[in-house]
Amino acid sequence: MLLRFKMVEAALNHRAVEVKAPASRPSEYFGEKVFGRTAMRRYLDKQTYEALLNTMEKGTPLQLELADSVAAGMRQWALDNGADHYTHWFQPLTGGTAEKHDSFSDPDGKGAVLETFTGKVLAQQEPDASSFPNGGIRNTFEARGYSAWDPTSPAFIVDTTLCIPTVFIAYTGEALDYKVPLLRAIAAVDKAATEVCRYFDKNVEHVNTYLGWEQEFFLVDESLWAARPDLVLTGRTLMGHESAKNQQLEDHYFGAIPSRVISFMKDLEYESLKLGIPLKTRHNEVAPNQFEVAPVYEEANLANDHNQLLMTVMDKISRRHHFRVLLHEKPFKGINGSGKHNNWSLGTDTGVNLFGPGKTPAENLQFITFLVNVMAAVYRHNGLLKAAIMSATNAHRLGANEAPPAIISTFLGSQISSVLDKLEKSKSDDAIRFDARSVLKMSGVTQIPSILLDNTDRNRTSPFAFTGNRFEFRAVGSSDNCAEAMICLCSAMAEQLTLFKADVDAKIERGVKKEKAIYETIKQLIKQCKVIHFDGNGYSDEWKAEAARRGLDCETSAPLIFDRYLTPDSLKMFGDMGIYTKVELEARTEVKWETYTKKIQIEARVLGDITMNHIIPVASKYEAVLLDKAYKMKELGIKSTSDIELIKDIQEHTATIQRLVHEMVEARKVANRIEDQRQKAIVYHDTVAVYFDQIRYHIDKMEEVIDDQLWPLPKYRELLFIR
Ligand code: ADP
Ligand code: MG
Repeated sequence: MLLRFKMVEAALNHRAVEVKAPASRPSEYFGEKVFGRTAMRRYLDKQTYEALLNTMEKGTPLQLELADSVAAGMRQWALDNGADHYTHWFQPLTGGTAEKHDSFSDPDGKGAVLETFTGKVLAQQEPDASSFPNGGIRNTFEARGYSAWDPTSPAFIVDTTLCIPTVFIAYTGEALDYKVPLLRAIAAVDKAATEVCRYFDKNVEHVNTYLGWEQEFFLVDESLWAARPDLVLTGRTLMGHESAKNQQLEDHYFGAIPSRVISFMKDLEYESLKLGIPLKTRHNEVAPNQFEVAPVYEEANLANDHNQLLMTVMDKISRRHHFRVLLHEKPFKGINGSGKHNNWSLGTDTGVNLFGPGKTPAENLQFITFLVNVMAAVYRHNGLLKAAIMSATNAHRLGANEAPPAIISTFLGSQISSVLDKLEKSKSDDAIRFDARSVLKMSGVTQIPSILLDNTDRNRTSPFAFTGNRFEFRAVGSSDNCAEAMICLCSAMAEQLTLFKADVDAKIERGVKKEKAIYETIKQLIKQCKVIHFDGNGYSDEWKAEAARRGLDCETSAPLIFDRYLTPDSLKMFGDMGIYTKVELEARTEVKWETYTKKIQIEARVLGDITMNHIIPVASKYEAVLLDKAYKMKELGIKSTSDIELIKDIQEHTATIQRLVHEMVEARKVANRIEDQRQKAIVYHDTVAVYFDQIRYHIDKMEEVIDDQLWPLPKYRELLFIR
């Protein structure tokens, strides 16, 4: 029997896996595998506990002497919870997470072993990590990379391994991961935002960055997945005719979750909650077999660790349920792709959400200040923000007619838009008045009912939308590390707030009153960055033309978009804010180009292989059957024009495919000879990737006419509907 049918049968036989209901409630098992407050209190002495808590909550540096006591407590907790190994867990530029497990057991020199774990081992390791992408920062002769403990994100146990979140840096100090620059960017925005907050409230000492991600993904049955080499090797289907029914009835979104999937979700939620990932929401997404989970938002560094962890946990748990998780941004043509919305906000240590409209006029001025500065930051660096979310895989989604367009703009909704309009048009005297207690009053800004804002018009076509008390960066790819988007956003915001403060201070120095200075600067900013504001349909062609007229970045080629990291504006911004040196930026961009090329190269190879080994032979087989029939009919004197037409049709497709595959291979050979990574990626984009859709077109056409009994690959209708 054809492998495809065996696999379809196997898939049909997969039933919902029984998931044992947890014996206790989430409130009891939440964080049970995390060395968090509860465990810390039990396993650390008071002084160590308080110092570590201070580090976790306020970022106060931890005295190294205390590392030994932390390590001792952590070790005991880990052993008590069944761990036998530990690892430094880090986020290299591969996009995944990396871990190398070491056993706690050490020979004691007397023929026995002891479980040891010291502060030194906790604090720093030197993984033999020369083969992680580094963009040439580390030549092999100094291929040393260090992983160093990030005490702000708690250690946790996966299976029987204690995982210690760490940063990963080169011997020479450059960041080789996502965590280092993320921590730097969070610190930069903390500093800049705190200073601006002090115009409004002298008690503010810190501003925290919050992130609430929404993770979209597809599930496919593992048997069907295994019969699709393209899914296995590239994460997406390189071919496949659309299913007659897919998402046009809109019956999947928020529909009843299939029982097999519900089992998977329950399992996933249980495991995630134990790991301290505060999952809250689960639902079907728009496309068949597409789902989403989202947690309650957290401090951005922790939230990002949790998202990274969730992606690995998902993969592991899906296998228990005979599924595979597809995190690729566009696994199937013709239906929606997957994103990872990054809900982002800033909040003070005094408990104020800076993106939430306030209750008093003063709070509202602060809110408008931050809102307008976000717009200005996004405007100044709209090209860079696009680069932050661009990848070979997310490129399928951006600009395709469903997800955010490949142009960054901000959506504000009608209420905020009208407030900004009023502000812009107001003359300073009629808009700003001070009452007896010197409280600021601004026309149109005094009261913005927050309840109404929460229900603000949602515009699903905007890549960067204000949604009542936060911004939602929707263009982030489902497989991405959220850090990349957060790094660029927070750095840009830090720079903008710094510029804002300099401007306001200069006015104050000239004798302008503080509130008025703020107001004047806001007005200028509203005018300057108006063009980033767009509340219309982001998918429309009119918007593309309009955005180009407005001077927004409209580039669509991924390798060229990566150039945005290295523009003078970006270099200055990252340099001034202390996020990246030029060397780091060059290295990281190099990695982006290299990764892009490799992904396209792999896809090209897989497409060539499947075409020549699966599709063409089947087409020939079917042609032979038809030819045989046509000959015999002719002998009997019966006309068989339609068979002949079909043979010609197939013949034309196979001939074209063979020619295209040959040309694609030749294009690859040319590209492979290029040394320069940027140039190579550009040539891969311009001359190799262009064949994918052309080849696919002919394969998909043949899938429509060739005998279903011969077709080797599971079809969309089989892959996409879990029963
Ligand atoms: P929707 O799909 O309507 O956008 P979801 O409930 O799927 O909403 O996800 C919303 C996400 O936004 C959640 O992760 C939530 O915790 C997060 N979120 C809510 N408020 C904030 C905030 N102030 N800052 C950051 N994230 C937030
Ligand atoms: Mg959602």
